[in-house]
Amino acid sequence: MRLDGKVALVTGSSQGIGQGIAIRLAAEGASVIINYRSHPEGAEETLAKVEASGGKCYMAQCPKNPGYAIKADTGMVEDVQRLVMESVEHFGKLDILVNNAGIEKHAPFWDVTESDYDAVLNVNLKGVFFATQAMVRHLIATKRPGKIINISSVHEELPFPNFTAYCTSKGGMKMLTRNLAVELGSLGITINNVAPGAIETPINTKLLNDPEKLGALLKNIPLGRLGQPQDVAALVAFLASDDANYITGTTFFADGGLLWNYQEQ
Ligand code: NAD
Repeated sequence: MRLDGKVALVTGSSQGIGQGIAIRLAAEGASVIINYRSHPEGAEETLAKVEASGGKCYMAQCPKNPGYAIKADTGMVEDVQRLVMESVEHFGKLDILVNNAGIEKHAPFWDVTESDYDAVLNVNLKGVFFATQAMVRHLIATKRPGKIINISSVHEELPFPNFTAYCTSKGGMKMLTRNLAVELGSLGITINNVAPGAIETPINTKLLNDPEKLGALLKNIPLGRLGQPQDVAALVAFLASDDANYITGTTFFADGGLLWNYQEQ
């Protein structure tokens, strides 16, 4: 299998896209560390799905295999550093880091509060920055190559009125990736972004329950449907594999063509 012998950490993997990525990487042979912030039951659900897909189990609660899911708030620097360290301590190494955890807050620009701005930027950008730094330090210390994959968004390119903090964070992620591709290339470390369009996950619950908005959005998606977590996970699995060894500093869109056909309603 493509990821046999690899260890991957997927942040925010208790639901949605992160859960889909954890399941797919495990099915490809990787040992996967599940991260959750506050709901262990979500992490347990990921674990059950990982096992059902033939993947391995790495939670303390699992009777069959050693390991655990790690509780950590990726919006806090000490937490992401501990998350990476604990992953390495538990499995001996890390090969793949998927920075997936992310949040969004809806508000007109003039109403955005400092605390909402901080919440979005801390999880979507600052946490990604320092998780990546901790991963890179580990790879340098162990003199090994590695792969970093950031879950960005079409909104690293595309304006999204009323979500300015979110767009700011994903735009920052784009430059983080370009910069680090140059700075880390000589170390054998690659870094790429996967930019989803509209994916059917809990982050879109409001949209999914609004038939009018949903219908209008579907008209903007050339492939005529919302994406599923596995549509994103398949791309991540490719980028995490040796098939992608010569790819770095790039964003890959998994959006059904939305980016080139988008109109805000
Ligand atoms: P989601 O809300 O279903 O899942 C987000 C995950 O991140 C959850 O498991 C949540 O617990 C975790 N998380 C949030 N804050 C955290 C924190 N402080 N510490 C640890 N974990 C935290 O959303 P999703 O759709 O699965 O989103 C995953 C990623 O994909 C995000 O970065 C999001 O911006 C991006 N994305 C999603 C879509 C979409 O349409 N669903 C589109 C573009 C980009």
